[in-house]
Amino acid sequence: MAISSIPGYPCMGPRRELKWALEKYWSGARTAEDLAATARAVRAEGWRTQRDAGIDLIPVNDFSFYDPTLDAAVLVGAVPGRYGSAPEPASLDTYFAMARGRDGEQPAPALEMTKWFDTNYHYLVPELTADQQFRLASDKPFAELAEATAAGIPAKPVLLGPLTFLLLAKQPDGERAPLALLDRLLPVYAAVIQRLADAGAAWIQLDEPALVLDRTPDELAALGRAYALLAEAKGSAKLLVQTAYGHVGEAYPMLAALPVDGIGLDLTRSPENLALLERHGFPADKWLAAGVVDGRNIWGNDLAASLDLLDRVGEYVSTERLMVSASCSLRHVPYDVRREAALDPELAGWLAFAEQKLSEIALLTRAVNDGRGAIAEELAANAATLAGMRDSPRRRDSAVRARTANLTQREQQRESAAPERAAAQAQRIPLPPLPTTTIGSFPQTPQLRAERKRFEQGEIDATAYDAFLREQIREVVRWQEAAGLDVLVHGEPERNDMVQYFGEQLAGFAFTQHGWVQSYGSRMVRPPIIYGDVSRPAPMTVAWAVFAQSLSDRPVKGMLTGPVTILNWSFVRDDQPRAETCRQIALAIRDEVTDLDMAGIAVIQIDEPALREGLPLRHAEQDAYLEWATACFRIAASAARDETQIHTHMCYSEFGEVIDAIAALDADVISIENARSNNELLRVFRREGYDKGIGPGVYDIHSPRVPSEDELLERLHATLEALQPGQVWVNPDCGLKTRRWEEVRPALTNMVAAARRARTELAAKS
Ligand code: GLN
Ligand code: ZN
Repeated sequence: MAISSIPGYPCMGPRRELKWALEKYWSGARTAEDLAATARAVRAEGWRTQRDAGIDLIPVNDFSFYDPTLDAAVLVGAVPGRYGSAPEPASLDTYFAMARGRDGEQPAPALEMTKWFDTNYHYLVPELTADQQFRLASDKPFAELAEATAAGIPAKPVLLGPLTFLLLAKQPDGERAPLALLDRLLPVYAAVIQRLADAGAAWIQLDEPALVLDRTPDELAALGRAYALLAEAKGSAKLLVQTAYGHVGEAYPMLAALPVDGIGLDLTRSPENLALLERHGFPADKWLAAGVVDGRNIWGNDLAASLDLLDRVGEYVSTERLMVSASCSLRHVPYDVRREAALDPELAGWLAFAEQKLSEIALLTRAVNDGRGAIAEELAANAATLAGMRDSPRRRDSAVRARTANLTQREQQRESAAPERAAAQAQRIPLPPLPTTTIGSFPQTPQLRAERKRFEQGEIDATAYDAFLREQIREVVRWQEAAGLDVLVHGEPERNDMVQYFGEQLAGFAFTQHGWVQSYGSRMVRPPIIYGDVSRPAPMTVAWAVFAQSLSDRPVKGMLTGPVTILNWSFVRDDQPRAETCRQIALAIRDEVTDLDMAGIAVIQIDEPALREGLPLRHAEQDAYLEWATACFRIAASAARDETQIHTHMCYSEFGEVIDAIAALDADVISIENARSNNELLRVFRREGYDKGIGPGVYDIHSPRVPSEDELLERLHATLEALQPGQVWVNPDCGLKTRRWEEVRPALTNMVAAARRARTELAAKS
């Protein structure tokens, strides 16, 4: 009999219970016991939901207070010294200090945070020294297993696999952690596995998503070494090595030869994993967790197609050793479509969130075991839905299609080359050297959130809300002028989210009310759903930009989200290439750039923080992506006249590999996250040479810590060593919406003061 399982489940709670509990705990309004109680309730509800949906083997320890990679670091005792000699198990406050940084008497910056594979989830980068020692330093997996067992849940403890843990980790200087550390790490993993097995775990899942990237023979050998050792510790438990987000390529033969009991493969992303089965066969002694339900996207499963796929898989794997599963953890999708009462019912019928995916997996498992006839009704309904979706006129707009098909050269590049534009811009926008600016958003205060909520719930009307927002903008502009910033922003108070805000005004997008997914820690986003051809019916930001500019003689940036980011942070239709959908969005943003330019906005920022995260994980696929992605940015930006300065912004990524693409954007100025990743970026730009305007972030905005003027000046010194003074801008790493005014005011005041001191130094030198 095939069984049903999933690699992981969301853990914020269907009503974001954990988010609220975390934030209250951080603000001191709740105790650790309160937080623990919420966590227990969220876990219990998730397990119950899975069991009731018919999932046979249920992941546990996929829960996290902040991030599973951080959990793994804490589990193996990898707590950097700056967080203090932690008592064991590491206290909750040490844990949160690693996640969020710590202020006060012993300030300690947070661990670096970066994108998790090619998703919009962010993980904390484990920091390991070259002589790192490991020890079992947490009982979280055991406690959660005990909790599940007590609740009668058939539990499958989930751990981040040791190879992926090491490959994700870095040394304090930013270099990768040496693979040799694996030998020290493995005994701890073996101890964890043994203890889980002793506690009665029938299956233990080790997540090794790193295997879907290009891997060296050394790394694959390390994989073999690791699992040979772990297999000895497993006792009567079965080990499942779970991959996700793509195909395992050259790792397949090694994976298939591991002395483990099961392998989990993503069968939705590309045909390659199935091809690997066909090419190499599948070991008769192993289980296959067949990821046939897409854990990354929200479209309903094509059940008949999945059963065909499972039939093909069945040529290599017996039903006795088949787990019907999702392609990856369901943490990347929201909880439940049924809560979306406001969604158009036709569209809602096309969708499957986590709970619906559980049902799909249970149905498919039933069909595998009892034949398709056992789910005949469901298959018929599913086929009807899919047919309706394919033929729906709401997915096609012929005017949009004509536009993308007939793009001209001029629609894909600026009128003049960068130096000529720079000259025209210098005339129009006089600025001091090392101009100061911010990335766009200012604190989204409790008051601002409350007013938005009142407006959404109809307690205040549009006029009142509009007046409120204008007042917010006025304050933000006034404050920036007084603080001495050079290029101002309006603060983005009207935006709930940088993608949602645009999606809500574009045709072809739909929105959920409760479709939250975790971005990092307690931060959740509600990705839009791109279901149809995209266009911009009317200006989206022009009135706000014009109003903000009317308040100051200094330039106020018009602020847009770029097409690639809108694409990468949405759930995207899967019936046409992503590049085509992106071109449609690019043209919509282009229309907005045109209107901002015509309205006299002299500086327009088009944010592309997600450009890097869309990068395919395999090198062979990267160039094609970067080519269309940068072309889409240029489609949006090239509507601006030469004298209009185009900025872009990027954050939370490794930029080394995409530096050529950054240049290919042809933006006049880029502000880019730098402080949190320890000036690593500067090294890249120094090495590669970059000649346009650039503002490497001078401080990390994901931490409440206020940087001192001296510290910021030091940052600027480091920047000026790598770059030409004439090209350097001074700005934080990212937008300030998650920060409080009490942090933002002193931080920006110090930043402006540091920039002024650096200017004086420059003037003295020349
Ligand atoms: N302009 C946006 C802001 O400041 C950019 C956010 C981002 O890069 N994630 O909030
Ligand atoms: Zn950013």
